Amino acid sequence: MLSKEIGSIKGVGKQREKLFWRLGIRTAGDMLCYYPRGYEDRSRIKKIAELEEGESVCVRATACTVLKTSRPRKGLSYQKVTVTDGSGVLFLTWFNHDWMVRDFDLSAEYTYYGRAAVKNGRVEMSNPVIVRENKIEPIYPLTGGLTQNVFRSVMARCAAYAGEVPESLPGWLRERYTLCGAEYALRNIHFPGDFEKFQFARTRLAFEELLLLRLGLKLLKQRRVRLNGVPLRRAEGVAEFLKLLPYPLTNAQKRVAREIADDLAGGAQSDGQSVKVMNRLVQGDVGSGKTVVAAIAMLIAADSGAQAAMMVPTGILAEQHYRALSGLFAALGVSVVLLTGSQTAKQKRDAREKLANGQARVAIGTHALIQDGVAFQNLCLVVTDEQHRFGVKQRAALAGKGDAPHLLVMTATPIPRTLSMILYGDLDVSVIDELPPGRQRIDTFSVDEGMRERVNQFMLKQIDGGRQVYIVCPLVEESEAAELKSASEYAERLRGTVFRGRTVGLVHGKMKAAEKDDVMRRFAAGETDALVSTTVIEVGVNVPNATLMVVENAERFGLSQLHQLRGRVGRGAHRSYCVLFCQGGNAVTEQRMRIMRETNDGFKIAETDLRLRGPGEFFGTRQHGLPELKIANLYLDTELIAKSGEAADQILRTDPALRGAEHSLIKTKIDTMFEEIGGIELT
Ligand code: ADP
Ligand code: MG
Repeated sequence: MLSKEIGSIKGVGKQREKLFWRLGIRTAGDMLCYYPRGYEDRSRIKKIAELEEGESVCVRATACTVLKTSRPRKGLSYQKVTVTDGSGVLFLTWFNHDWMVRDFDLSAEYTYYGRAAVKNGRVEMSNPVIVRENKIEPIYPLTGGLTQNVFRSVMARCAAYAGEVPESLPGWLRERYTLCGAEYALRNIHFPGDFEKFQFARTRLAFEELLLLRLGLKLLKQRRVRLNGVPLRRAEGVAEFLKLLPYPLTNAQKRVAREIADDLAGGAQSDGQSVKVMNRLVQGDVGSGKTVVAAIAMLIAADSGAQAAMMVPTGILAEQHYRALSGLFAALGVSVVLLTGSQTAKQKRDAREKLANGQARVAIGTHALIQDGVAFQNLCLVVTDEQHRFGVKQRAALAGKGDAPHLLVMTATPIPRTLSMILYGDLDVSVIDELPPGRQRIDTFSVDEGMRERVNQFMLKQIDGGRQVYIVCPLVEESEAAELKSASEYAERLRGTVFRGRTVGLVHGKMKAAEKDDVMRRFAAGETDALVSTTVIEVGVNVPNATLMVVENAERFGLSQLHQLRGRVGRGAHRSYCVLFCQGGNAVTEQRMRIMRETNDGFKIAETDLRLRGPGEFFGTRQHGLPELKIANLYLDTELIAKSGEAADQILRTDPALRGAEHSLIKTKIDTMFEEIGGIELT
C-alpha cells in the first residue's frame, strides 16, 4: 500500500524510521517521490587499456598478485592488489578493508566499479566497489546515518507499490506529448534499465511538474485578474511633475508609464466603479530610470485620493528614494513619509500616524512597512523595488495592508525573455529597454595579481582627484576564510598601507541594518574615500561621485551580479571604471570576463551567464518565490517548458477552473505544490 508507514517496511524499523522522517518520508508513497540526485553507471564495462583519467566505470578482471595489507600506523591499513583483463593492468587500493584479505578469491574474476586515475600510463582505482550486478544504481541525497545501499533496498521494496500510484495525466495528453505512464516513470526513475529508459521516465516526470507549475501560475493570474481594485485615473499632477524633472523621459520610460497608467485606470473594461487590479513587473537595466516610472504611478494614486507605498530592500535605498522624491512631491502638494528600521521610535510613530489618518499619501520604506503596527487609510498601490530581493510572501504582506491594491514590482535583474514568462507567470511584464541619453559606458578590465600595484595606484589617483572608490569582496563563509580575502581584514590592511591618510569604510553582511546604513550614508555624503564591502551594495545605491569599482575574486560572482555592481559607478559626470580581479582563470572564467569587458548590456550578460554557468547557479527559484521543483530544470528544460505551457493552455480552455473529474488529481497536486508559497486557494 502506498500509505504504508515507512517504519513498517522491511529493513527500516524504529531506529531508522526517524532518519527517513528527517528526509520528509513518512510513507511508501513519499518514498517513491523521493528522486535520485544522480546515477552510477555500473552497467558499462571497459577494457583496462581504454580507461581514461577521471571516468567512473566497471572493469572485469582477475588478480595478478596476492592481496597485501600494509599498516603505516595504528588504525590505518591499506589493501593492495594488481588485476588484469588481458588488455592491461590496474592497481587497486582500499583503506581499512582488512576483511578482504580473507574473502578475496585470487582465482576469481570480479567486476570492479570505481574512478580511474591514469598517471604516466599507470592506471589506478581507490576504494573500488565489487559489483555483483551490472546495472545503473541510483544515488540519493541522504542525511547522516543512512547509506545508499540501505536506502536503495528500501526503495526497491517500495517500488513494488508503484502500480498503485494514480495516473494524473489524461490519456490524450500523454498521447500528444508521447509521455509514459506514472508507474513506468517511477520504476525507471529509481531503477532505470538503461539511460534511454531513464530519459523517458524523467521526461514524463519533469513534464508533469512543469505542467503543474504553469497551470498554478496561470490560475493565480486569472484569480488576481478577477480581483477588483479601485480605478486610479486622475493624473493632473503627472504633467506638473514632468515639468519639474530636470530631464525629459526616455521613450521607453514614457511607454512603460503609459502601460501602468492604463492598468491603473482599468483600461476599456472598467465599469467606472471598480477595475481589474494591476499586476505589473517593470524590468529595466541598472540606471534605466525605474524610479521615476514608479513615482509617476504613485502620483496617479495620490492624485486620485488614494495612498501608495513603495518597499525597498535597504534603509539607505529607502532614504535615497525619499530624498529624490519628497521634494518634488511636496511641490505638488503630496506628502511623503519615510519608514525604516533604523529610525527613532518617534520618527516611526509619526510616520505610522500619518499613514493611518491619511495625511501622508505616499510611504517609502523597508520591511518596516509590513510590520504589524503599520496601517493605511486607503492603500491602493503597492510598489516593490528590486523585486528579486523579496519573495511572493512579502509582496503579499504589503498588499494585505490595502484592499486589493494595484501591484507594481520593479527589478534590475535582467531575466532572459524565455524565463521571465515562467518566473513571473502571474505578472504582466514591461521592459525599459533604453538608457537615458549620454550615459557613458564603464571601461571594464579583468586583471590578475600581477596588476595589483598598478590598480592600487589607480585607486589612489581617483581618490586624490576627489573621486570615490568601491572595493567589493565576496561574502566570506567561515570555512573559506583562508581562501578568500575577508572584507574586514582587507579594509584594515588598506588603511595601514595603500590608503594611509585616506578614509576607508567597511560594510558587510553580518552588520546590523542601522550600522550598514550609517556607513553607506557617510560614503554617499563623501566622508569616506573608499568603501570596502561584501555585496550588500549591489542594490540600487546612487553615489555619483564614485568612479571606480574594484571587484576581488570576480570569478566567484554571477555575471549579472557583476553587472549590477558595475552599475554603481558611472552615475555622475566623471569617466568611470570597473576592475575585476580574477584568480586562476580557466577557459570559462576567461569567457565570462570577456563578456564583461565587451558589453554593458544587461540582457546579453544574463543570457551568457545562463549559458556558461548552467542550472541552479544563475539564481535559485527560491529567490523568485516560486515553488521548489524536484526534477524539472527551469534553465535547461526549455523544450518541455514550451510544451507544458501549450498543454496548460489547452487544459484551461476546456476546463478553466479544473473542475472536471479527469483533472481532479492535477488540481490536488497543484494545491500541494503551491502550499509552501502561501497557497493558491483555488475556488
Ligand atoms: P534604476 O533603473 O537603476 O533604478 P534610477 O531610477 O535610479 O535607475 O535612475 C538612475 C539615474 O538616472 C538617476 O540619477 C536618475 O535621476 C537618472 N534618470 C532617470 N531617467 C532619466 C532620463 N530620462 N534622463 C536622464 N536621466 C535620467
Ligand atoms: Mg533603482
